[in-house]
Amino acid sequence: MALRIVETSDPAGTESLGAELAAGLRDGDVVLVRGELGSGKTTLVRGAARALGVTDPVTSPTFSIGHRYRAPHVTVSHLDLYRLAGLEHEDPALLADYLGPGRIAFVEWPSQGDDELSNARLQVTLSHRGGDRRRIELGDERGGGESDE
Ligand code: ADP
Ligand code: MG
Repeated sequence: MALRIVETSDPAGTESLGAELAAGLRDGDVVLVRGELGSGKTTLVRGAARALGVTDPVTSPTFSIGHRYRAPHVTVSHLDLYRLAGLEHEDPALLADYLGPGRIAFVEWPSQGDDELSNARLQVTLSHRGGDRRRIELGDERGGGESDE
């Protein structure tokens, strides 16, 4: 069920929304971030990470499935599972360093990891709306978005 639908008109707006949702997160929470390439997933995670106290630059994971950033009260994990064919063929420990107590995790392209990530607290689905406009849907763990690509 959709909890809230927002439209942003620039990257700063999407970062602000990320910061806003970060304020409601707790230690151990997982946030699934869905949407096409360039829809603003990483931008939203950047805003959330900043709000949680991350000062390092937040960039897309390229050489690994994720990054971990130290923040004052928690480690912020940022995973991008785009290149993973399916977590069922991967070492179960693959995600262990990124999820769980002491961490708040944001996961881009989570469809490949449904089992591991089924306890997500929040699901965010972004879509292009022309130019710099983005539609951002916040939902609970079970199908916040009508599109499950
Ligand atoms: P993704 O992680 O979904 O591939 P990114 O966050 O890496 O997307 O990139 C989104 C791109 O779109 C960035 O270049 C960003 O500056 C641009 N952009 C333009 N308008 C917006 C907006 N309203 N929200 C988020 N990003 C936007
Ligand atoms: Mg990204």
